Amino acid sequence: MRKRNKNKRKQRQVAIISGGILIAVSIVLCIKFIPKHEEQKLQITIPNENQNGTSNNTESNNENEVENNKDQSDDKDKVEENKLDNSGYLSFEEDPNADDAAMVAENTKGLLNGTKHYPVRTDGKKVVYLTFDDGPSTTNTPQVLDILDKYNVKATFFVLGSSIDKSDEAKEILKEEVKRGHAIANHTYGHDYSYLYPNRTMNVNNIVSDLEKSQNSMKAVLGEDFSTRVIRLPGGYWSWEGRTAMKEAMEQNGYYNVDWNALNKDAEGKMKNADELVQCTKESVEALGPNADSVVLLMHDTYGKEETVKALPRIIEYLQSQGFEFRTIK
Ligand SMILES: [Zn+2]
Repeated sequence: MRKRNKNKRKQRQVAIISGGILIAVSIVLCIKFIPKHEEQKLQITIPNENQNGTSNNTESNNENEVENNKDQSDDKDKVEENKLDNSGYLSFEEDPNADDAAMVAENTKGLLNGTKHYPVRTDGKKVVYLTFDDGPSTTNTPQVLDILDKYNVKATFFVLGSSIDKSDEAKEILKEEVKRGHAIANHTYGHDYSYLYPNRTMNVNNIVSDLEKSQNSMKAVLGEDFSTRVIRLPGGYWSWEGRTAMKEAMEQNGYYNVDWNALNKDAEGKMKNADELVQCTKESVEALGPNADSVVLLMHDTYGKEETVKALPRIIEYLQSQGFEFRTIK
């Protein structure tokens, strides 16, 4: 009896010791992983904190919106982590703020005052797509994101792989664009006209390879699962010769090119101040006529576009006053 009791006690002791070891190992593992996680979170907030401190509240509001269509998870950390590897990038079918790129491309074909007669939409909506090209930049994109949050407006960022690869901060800003529910589109890697359009003619092989290179830069930051069907060729699809071959290549690769039909002129002619950019936007949208119900507005969030940032609140307020709904292109 005694021996058996002793044995039992021994077994219990062994159980307690191994239990202790297990707990200790778990604690060590936790300590090892938690700081990594915190580090990622900290990095994400860097762009906002650097630029201004007003965004944090609105940020969480927007996050909630994006998450509305998904299963609500109690594990907030897990949700955060998923977004980092881009599980948070919803397709246009899932994203309540996004329209199908194929439809947008068709509805807004052509440059300013193009061939389209409005209205073109069949759902009776009046929609504007804010688009920002050539970013992300560490100087202007964070403020653009904060302003969009303030107005609870979503936009489409036509990013360059070369801008993403410029710095770690730029990469964090790209993640932030996704996290806040915006759409990401491909504007090629290098934006180099002589490489993409020698003799003003599209070099389809160069264009496709530059788009792929840019897509790889996005994947390196957002995760291998990330892809975007939306492209915008630098200078606009309709500006170059050789469109037939390019059209075939786009069909093969599942790309949809979306140019623009309105612009704030922040990249045309002489440098304009914020007042002039607001004025140009109004004129450009008005030129489409009173029935325009599908407006793609071209702007830039790259380096040197500080006046665009200054003009953006007034541009949004103007479009709101005209009854436009803001949607993204996916
Ligand atoms: Zn561009």
